[in-house]
Amino acid sequence: MQRVTVGNVEVVALVDLVQSYSAERVYAETADRLGEFTDLLEDGKVVLNFASFLLRADGRTVLVDTGNGPEAQGRLLDELAAAGVRPDEVELVLFTHLHGDHTGWALDRESGRPRFANARYLVPRADWEHYRAQTPPPNSFTRDVAPLESLGALDLVDGEHTISPSLVTLHTPGHTPGHMTVVISSQGQQAYVLGDAFLTPIDVAEPDWVTTWDWSAVPVRETRRMLLSRIEASNALVAASHLPVPGLGHFVRSEGRRSWRGVA
Ligand SMILES: [Zn+2]
Repeated sequence: MQRVTVGNVEVVALVDLVQSYSAERVYAETADRLGEFTDLLEDGKVVLNFASFLLRADGRTVLVDTGNGPEAQGRLLDELAAAGVRPDEVELVLFTHLHGDHTGWALDRESGRPRFANARYLVPRADWEHYRAQTPPPNSFTRDVAPLESLGALDLVDGEHTISPSLVTLHTPGHTPGHMTVVISSQGQQAYVLGDAFLTPIDVAEPDWVTTWDWSAVPVRETRRMLLSRIEASNALVAASHLPVPGLGHFVRSEGRRSWRGVA
């Protein structure tokens, strides 16, 4: 659990778990160039953080993404408790996208009820339509997301959706069709809750590379270019699900290379 402020907005990184993956599998298309990035790997593996972000803005309590869930022994609920927040205090749950490592704690497995009992759940419309149309839909969609409709807790959103005066969504497709970023603006400061638009520090250095988890390469690259220009123009803080723990930091440039610098 790590807390920072952006103007009047509180951003709390909640780490569900950390897991390593073979870099050659994650970057199958560019595996021959991974030797340039051994400083960003651990024994040939990419180390992924799995973070959610709690936002306190304009009197609202918003949880962005809900981690892997109980099957993965994730710690999200402990992290939330460490931040001093009860699940029933969360008013809005927003999924940046509908992959299972972002929806895992959405429902209580035993009761089938929303784990965040008083929350509306904001779901990107294009992801909802994309995964619902698959036969069969992904297990995590059927388990975590589809029930929200009949439970009456689901709100589909797309485009620029204002959550509160300081919080606006952006459609940032590529990793998935409906992927969303949350832009925080308060007292002249900005932050971007990027979801999986950039998965690893390698994506920051090489924004044209794609991972095996990305849905479509062309929009991945367009989205990253757009985000980089906005983030660099405003020197914004970045909160990203899988960048190194706690997932809070900045994109910086030095010696011709763009890199990730985590908050101290
Ligand atoms: Zn993810």
